[in-house]
Amino acid sequence: MALCAHCQKPLTITIEPESDDEDADDDVPMDSEPDTLPDDVHLPCGDHFHWECLLEAYEYSKCPACNRSIVASSSSSSSAEEQIIVDLNNEGGLQQGIDIAPILKEESYLRAYPEERKCRAFLEFCSEGDHRAIAELLKSCGEEMAAEDEDGEIVTEQVGGPSKSADEILRYQDPIGDMASGLHAAVANGHREVAWLLLLLASEYPELDFPALVFQEAGALGVMREDQAGKVDIRTLKDAHGRTAEDVARSVGVIWNGWVGTGRLALLGTVSGSSGGSGGAVTVRG
Ligand SMILES: [Zn+2]
Ligand SMILES: [Zn+2]
Repeated sequence: MALCAHCQKPLTITIEPESDDEDADDDVPMDSEPDTLPDDVHLPCGDHFHWECLLEAYEYSKCPACNRSIVASSSSSSSAEEQIIVDLNNEGGLQQGIDIAPILKEESYLRAYPEERKCRAFLEFCSEGDHRAIAELLKSCGEEMAAEDEDGEIVTEQVGGPSKSADEILRYQDPIGDMASGLHAAVANGHREVAWLLLLLASEYPELDFPALVFQEAGALGVMREDQAGKVDIRTLKDAHGRTAEDVARSVGVIWNGWVGTGRLALLGTVSGSSGGSGGAVTVRG
């Protein structure tokens, strides 16, 4: 049987049996065998790894054991995406010929920059269209900043470095994904609720021009627009190809009819070059 090329142990993972009562340390049944599950990443070079061992040892494009290239270029995509095709055998069963390059990239990036974990989660929620999760994530930033330790002192240091503020998360651009913002991600996947939420929280799009429902929903989720003075309007963010979210909307098609050209996804005037440039004025009610 093949062993992990990194730690030389069998390609299984041991699952700790769940204990109902953690205090009853003398009642653990000793006859119960610990459960094991397969944990095998079979690389194209032929080497096997535990998932965690591969992540630990992985360096871009090469097998950590034999140094041979493990990437293949996808033939279907015009953008020449690099793929790492493996046979994966884990708790989900055996999956043959799947591309783990996106997960590997994401996981290695998070290991190098753990402080960006929330930013990465934010982008994922934007892609998935989960506006509730976005709201919860942003609210959790405020709580964390005010967290106190056991002695009542304000804790400023977070595990893995300082955590990002809600404003930073909202304006995060993906360094391993073409510098796409959350708005780019929401637009690319056709999620209008998310687009509205992001416009409300991180742009100067006039409040009077939002559907009333957007305010109700945001209110129910416990988030609302804060003073945007001096902050970057997310509609101005461009990806690595120089595209605004509106440019992405145009390529996505009909789902963004009524949005393109209205100033919702790009500042009016930046494209047409019209004089004045006061189109971004804030409308404040009350
Ligand atoms: Zn291993
Ligand atoms: Zn190898």
